Amino acid sequence: MVTEVVNLNDLKKLAPVFGQSSFDNHEQIVFCNDKDTGLKAIIGIHNTVLGPALGGTRMWNYSSEWEALNDVLRLSRGMTFKSAITGLNLGGGKAVIIGDSKTQKTPELMLRFGEFVHSLNGRYITAEDVGMTTEDMDLVRTVTPYVTGISEENGGAGNPSPITAYGVFMGMKAAAKIKFGSEILEDRVVYVEGIGHVGEALVEHLSNEGANVFISDINHERMEQVRDKYGVQIYNGDNLYAEQMDIYAPCALGATINDETIDLLQAKVIAGAANNQLADEQKHGMKLRERGIVYAPDFLINAGGIINVYAELENYGKQEIMRKTENIFNTTLEILNKAEASDVTTHQAAFEIAQTRIDSRKKES
Ligand code: NAD
Repeated sequence: MVTEVVNLNDLKKLAPVFGQSSFDNHEQIVFCNDKDTGLKAIIGIHNTVLGPALGGTRMWNYSSEWEALNDVLRLSRGMTFKSAITGLNLGGGKAVIIGDSKTQKTPELMLRFGEFVHSLNGRYITAEDVGMTTEDMDLVRTVTPYVTGISEENGGAGNPSPITAYGVFMGMKAAAKIKFGSEILEDRVVYVEGIGHVGEALVEHLSNEGANVFISDINHERMEQVRDKYGVQIYNGDNLYAEQMDIYAPCALGATINDETIDLLQAKVIAGAANNQLADEQKHGMKLRERGIVYAPDFLINAGGIINVYAELENYGKQEIMRKTENIFNTTLEILNKAEASDVTTHQAAFEIAQTRIDSRKKES
């Protein structure tokens, strides 16, 4: 899940942390190391004005520590704006664990990680992200209360991915309404890139609505399973971005909209679950706008997961979770219209609303 915003060699020339291009006045960055379990993790706390910094833990086999740091800086910042725009009283944080979740994730490592989370006394609350499961969060829960995304059997709200997918589906519909004049996705050609936990659930919504769905993933076996389950088509080509389509749904990597892909993109709408889809928010956001491609801001439409885990802190139930998530349709419509009216990118329009909320809370305190 690497966010290749800048060349890694360029990163190394910058000051190690505070001078990084992805550093955006983060409040606290915690490096966690444990020799016995092999844990190497970084917790990024971007902003706690609206509340404790909540965001998932990602375990990924980063090619370097620079890459991991860059990822946690970008992801934690994204969480600040995601919670702010969704109206939640949460700040932005995220954690990354360096390693392969399939071979290096052990119960001992997860428990040690939980102890580090606990040592922050609730300034950071974790949950699952890529490479993590609800079972991992249940385990972390045995050493700290500062964890969400735990299983329903253990009193949590369960796996957030289906809720995230539903929110993305709502945001996609709103973007389709703006672009095509109708939110009905029947017969629309939709490419879903990454059919993991969220991607698969999105494919289900899309195929139920009769969309013409193509899927792509680095895991071929998984693609075959999803194809057989929902009757969708596997994309076998080597340049998905250049294919004719109505909607592109990035549900795997960040930064897939970048200098290399932006001119190739044939999609008329972009709406997906991946965090930090734009490699450069300003430059690529502007380019999409110039090309008339409607971009539903990622941090706005993928908020279903955080709405789900927030329920564990605020004690609201499934009905309220679904109501709040469904409302992503209205918020997305509002923001896309605002962007048009104010002649700014959709990302900028969403960002400004989130920033205003943070600024006014800061003034009150
Ligand atoms: P996941 O790990 O279950 O799925 C990711 C999928 O992407 C996997 O199937 C993987 O094989 C595939 N993939 C990896 N690299 C790829 C590539 N280069 N091309 C195509 N496919 C590739 O993760 P997830 O939980 O489904 O999350 C997907 C994205 O959505 C992530 O960026 C995550 O941060 C974001 N997100 C997830 C949630 C949530 O509730 N799970 C919430 C908000 C945002």
